[in-house]
Amino acid sequence: MPPMNPHDQLRQLPSVDALLQAHTLRELAHQSSHTLVVEGVRVALDATRQKILAGADAPMLAQLIDTICEWVGAQVQPSLTPVINATGVILHTNLGRAPLSAETLVAMRLAAQGYSNLEYDLVAGERGSRHVHAETIITRLTGAEAALVVNNNAAAVMLILAAFARGKQVILSRGHLVEIGGGFRVPEVMQQSGATLVEVGTTNRTYVADYARAITEQTAMLMRVHSSNFKVIGFTHEATLGELATLAHEKNLLCVDDLGSGALLDTTTFGLAHEPMPQESLAAGVDVVCFSGDKLLGGPQAGIIIGKRAAIAALKKFPLTRALRVDKVTYAGVQATLLHYLKNEAAKKIPIWMMIAATRADLDARATKWVERWRAAKLDATVLDAESTIGGGSLPGETLPARVVAVAVAAPDEFAKRLRGNAPPIIARIEQGRVIFDPRTVLAQEEDTLLAGVERIAKLQ
Ligand SMILES: *Cc1c(COP(=O)(O)O)cnc(C)c1O
Repeated sequence: MPPMNPHDQLRQLPSVDALLQAHTLRELAHQSSHTLVVEGVRVALDATRQKILAGADAPMLAQLIDTICEWVGAQVQPSLTPVINATGVILHTNLGRAPLSAETLVAMRLAAQGYSNLEYDLVAGERGSRHVHAETIITRLTGAEAALVVNNNAAAVMLILAAFARGKQVILSRGHLVEIGGGFRVPEVMQQSGATLVEVGTTNRTYVADYARAITEQTAMLMRVHSSNFKVIGFTHEATLGELATLAHEKNLLCVDDLGSGALLDTTTFGLAHEPMPQESLAAGVDVVCFSGDKLLGGPQAGIIIGKRAAIAALKKFPLTRALRVDKVTYAGVQATLLHYLKNEAAKKIPIWMMIAATRADLDARATKWVERWRAAKLDATVLDAESTIGGGSLPGETLPARVVAVAVAAPDEFAKRLRGNAPPIIARIEQGRVIFDPRTVLAQEEDTLLAGVERIAKLQ
């Protein structure tokens, strides 16, 4: 019999209705959703038609049904899934920034699974304020008079500008017109908030006199945005926060500092450059300071606003605050993370600080163990000196001395792709044709999964 032409093959395909009558698919529709199975049937038939037109043979009915079951199975898997970060980038924004401490996870779980005193005063037996759960501890840690937590630092910046400078002018150095990433650009945020940006100085040099000259009747605020993700070196000058705060107060203006990361531990003790700390901005006289919860703080996504009592009180009453408020789970997580700082155990309990604090010897021991395992599995693996970075728009150009594992494979891109297809996905980097695994960002409990995943993929080569 001559081979069938594509059009005969297409005619052989079962109809949507016929497929839906198949026992397996009726069962599947019953277990998951009828609509999903119908969509799966359509998707599979479309794909099959394309393949036939491209010269393939029509699949057997059983094969087609398997494809549909697989497709439906994939749709009911959550798309957000844990991955193993072997890149060495500690605050990897694409990989969800800060992993949380064990205590933070417990607190978030407890808040999520039942009721809580989120807005209930247990002593008075009446309505309370959700702000208290973070405010007391943040003020104690930073010396601020008051504090407020919102959805993230981008929201904090937007809120501060909208509340204090809508319809007015905000003076900012040209050196601070930064793009943070993810579409967050200071001039655009300013526009969104209804404030008018007044640029002063130049990219590399701005003096306090530049701000002073730009002040008008319309000015509401002098602002600094920390250039958190880049560095200007060479012939540079910035007005100090102290100078800005003094000038602002002389002219009855507000001085605001967007710190970005806001480290509560001194990064120089870890061999890094100094990352500005919120308490330093307050000490310089700044009225309102904001920073992220999930950068160097090491907690869940949040924006933390601290400052003078009157300013924070005004923010709490501003209508936009209601739209940017965080839920009980975030409060629980922020509070638990901050408690580590209060108990002076942040460097031992908060994963990102543990990663920053990991010594060359710690990393060497782990890298050596991985190499032994992988060599036993016939992989060409070596321990190398390297550098890990902080990431997440913090400490640009700063690196930590690292010991990493380099694996030489025939097709590194293909290998990395297979790693990403592992369950759970493993994210590694490629350097000079080798796949690099940095132990610094691999959590202890992920290590066995990583070792086995790499071995399994190596066998497929
Ligand atoms: C990261 C960053 C932001 C945005 O903070 P998110 O918490 O990511 O919203 C704003 N400003 C600066 C200076 C930053 O570094």
